[in-house]
Amino acid sequence: MAIWNLGSINIDHIYRLDHLPDAGETISAQEVTQGLGGKGANQSVATARAGAQTCHLGAMGTGDQWVIDRLAASGICTGNILRLDRTATGHAIILLDAQGENSIIIHPGANRMLTKAALQSCFDRIKPQDSLLIQNETNCQVEAAKAAKRVGARVIYSAAPFEIGPLRAIMPHADILAMNAGEAAQLFAEIPGDLPVEGLLITLGGEGAEYRDLRTGQTYRQPAFPVRAVDTTGAGDTFAGYFAAALDRGDTIPDALRLAAGAAALQVTRYGASDAIPMLEEVVGFLA
Ligand code: ATP
Repeated sequence: MAIWNLGSINIDHIYRLDHLPDAGETISAQEVTQGLGGKGANQSVATARAGAQTCHLGAMGTGDQWVIDRLAASGICTGNILRLDRTATGHAIILLDAQGENSIIIHPGANRMLTKAALQSCFDRIKPQDSLLIQNETNCQVEAAKAAKRVGARVIYSAAPFEIGPLRAIMPHADILAMNAGEAAQLFAEIPGDLPVEGLLITLGGEGAEYRDLRTGQTYRQPAFPVRAVDTTGAGDTFAGYFAAALDRGDTIPDALRLAAGAAALQVTRYGASDAIPMLEEVVGFLA
C-alpha cells in the first residue's frame, strides 16, 4: 500500500512577533527563520514519518534543492516533483505571536502550475489499495481524485484553504473530507444536507478531533492530549497525515484518531510546520 499526495510545497518564512500587526502598523520581528511548509509537504512528511510509503506529486521552481533534500530525508519519494523553469517555488509569510497564534500569506507559485499531462503517468500507477491525499493548494485536484477513485483507491481531501467551488467539484470523487472546525462550519452553511462522502474528519484545535462516519451515522471523538502548545502551524496537516497513514496500515478509526492526536500534540509543542512533525516511534512512546 502506498500514499500518493498531490500537494503544495512552500518555503515558510516565519516571523516571531509580540503581537500580530494591525492594519497600518509596522512592527519589528524578534526572530525570522525559514522552514519547509505547504499543506502538501506537511502531510507528506507526516505520512512518511508515520511509516507509510509516500510519493509526493507537486511542483517547484528549479532552485531550492534543500527542499527536495529535506523531503527525501523524511523518506518521501520526490521523483515526481516537477521542477519548472522561470517559476518560483511557493512560499508563505507566517506571522507568529507570543501566544502561538498565526496569520499567514501564501504565494502559490509553482503549486498552481501543474498539468494533467505531466501527472498522468503517476495517476496511472495508483493502485486500488493505495490512498491519495489532496489539499486545496494545487491545481489538478479533480483530475487526480477521479483517477484514484476510478481504480478504487481511498481519496482523502483536506478542504483547506476553504473554497466551496473546488470542494463541490471534488466531493463526488472523494471518500473522506478533512477540515478544521471553522472550515466545517463553512461547509455546513453552504451544504446543509447530506454529503456524498463516506466520512468527515474534523479537527477541533485544543479540543481534539472527531470522525463522522456518514454511512453508519456514528461519530468517534478523540480528545486532544494536554501539552503546552507554542506553535500550531501544520497541526491539522500532522493530524490528517497521521490519520491517513494509520488507515493505510489498517488501523481502526479510533486507533487512527488516537495516533493522529498524539502526533499533533507533539507537533504543537515545537516551532515550525514540517520540521516539527514527530517520528512514529516518538508518538508511540508518547502514547505508551
Ligand atoms: P493548522 O491550520 O494550524 O495546521 P488546523 O486549524 O488545521 O491547524 P487544529 O484543529 O487547530 O488544526 O489542530 C489539529 C489537531 O492538533 C487537533 O485536532 C489536536 O489533536 C491538535 N492540537 C491543536 N492544538 C492543540 C493543543 N493546544 N493541544 C494539544 N493538541 C492540539
